[in-house]
Amino acid sequence: MNLRLYNTLNNKIEDFKEIKKGKIGLYTCGPTVYDFAHIGNFRSYVFEDLFKRYLIYFGYNVKHIMNITDIDDKTIKKSNELGVDINEITEKYLKAFFKDIKTLNILKADIYPKATEHIKEMVELIEKLENNGYAYKKENSVYFNIEKFKGYGKLANILKENLKTGVSVDSDEYDKENVQDFVLWKGKKEDEPYWKTKYGEGRPGWHIECSAMSMKYLGNHFDIHMGGVDNIFPHHENEIAQAECATGEKFVNFWIHCQHLIVNNQKMSKSLGNYYTLEDLIQKGYKPMAIRYLLLSTHYRKTLNFTFEGLERAIHSLNRINDFTFSLKGLKSIKGESEDISNIIKQNETRFRENMNNDLNISGALGVFFDFLHQINLKLKELKAKDIENVLAYIKRINSVIGIIKEEKSIPLEDEIENKIKIRENARKTKDYKLADSIREELKEKGIILIDTSDGVRWKSVK
Ligand code: AMP
Ligand code: ZN
Repeated sequence: MNLRLYNTLNNKIEDFKEIKKGKIGLYTCGPTVYDFAHIGNFRSYVFEDLFKRYLIYFGYNVKHIMNITDIDDKTIKKSNELGVDINEITEKYLKAFFKDIKTLNILKADIYPKATEHIKEMVELIEKLENNGYAYKKENSVYFNIEKFKGYGKLANILKENLKTGVSVDSDEYDKENVQDFVLWKGKKEDEPYWKTKYGEGRPGWHIECSAMSMKYLGNHFDIHMGGVDNIFPHHENEIAQAECATGEKFVNFWIHCQHLIVNNQKMSKSLGNYYTLEDLIQKGYKPMAIRYLLLSTHYRKTLNFTFEGLERAIHSLNRINDFTFSLKGLKSIKGESEDISNIIKQNETRFRENMNNDLNISGALGVFFDFLHQINLKLKELKAKDIENVLAYIKRINSVIGIIKEEKSIPLEDEIENKIKIRENARKTKDYKLADSIREELKEKGIILIDTSDGVRWKSVK
């Protein structure tokens, strides 16, 4: 497929090659379900979805695992603050997460393993680390000894002299200035849920869950691991340490990280309070597909500055694609197929792939696709029946990658009806009554009647 990708592990763009021909094991770090996800989180998830869709478009069989962090410092803190059972909190936000990914047209993972359901696997992994001499007990907790692992720091490029060896850190999150022995198992504390294991009563650290669950479902060595750039250190660095020291094998071939969504030069995050949830934007009247378009249209290694002007531009681009598709569907044409159109499609698809193969250059790929819409627009009157079919099939193929047009239902959605009405209005303005009438007829067949009033066009469903 000639795909080239930036691999954080080696700091360079490399040729992509899968381990087992035609199959790909993909692990993406999932949400910590202590609150609603914000659109910064969704930038990472939408990018991961774009990449996965592109692999599927090429015919790969992708096995995708996304973990659900339902026990960690943040979930416990929230439960204690509100005095609500932790499961009630995590179930509530997990449900919201699934609703949001559906709204954003993100393909579902094959498995969403929960940390709380994999304590056994995590303890077994810690046991291996202890047996191999990489873990030590201190008070009631167990820590990973970073000094023992020669490869420690290879993902985040940490210099050996910056390692604070022999010092341990208990919290799940810490920064590069504090590279210490990290916690694998946390001894029981007051007001914290706990499990009884061979390491006594306690709970797992955050990092161990992703090593344990990814290897359980994808094997010790798999193809791709993804997340936002903030996951590189300490989370992914620690995942590599835990996995490789337990198995003695290479853990992951490709580490792909998405840059942040920022607001006024700061990372969009819960702690800074500078965030919007998906629901916030929908309440303001923005369509989910416009939000998806905005999140995916900037190259994943560039930060994306969130602004409402940017969102308006995304709406405009999306409307261009939708208007084009609708007007195409309404065209009446004669039988036949022209070589010219087939060639345009072929050339355009080649250029689209060239851009995507170049480290997933989506902005370039979208530019190529808009060129296509422009080219076909100029030839609208010449299109024969088979051409229209071919163009629509091509749009469908592109959409299988970008996912910004939701599959049509048998009864048109409100947006689609409104869109068709808009196209019909434009057709009437330009005296293209044939197109205007064909749109009226098409909607009628779907049970939608248009009523022309002095205030504009109204519609009603007669089904
Ligand atoms: P969390 O729930 O905090 O563990 O984050 C879930 C995912 O969202 C991780 O892959 C993070 O790297 C990613 N993420 C968090 N904030 C942002 C942001 N502002 N922009 C892009 N990705 C983010
Ligand atoms: Zn993870």
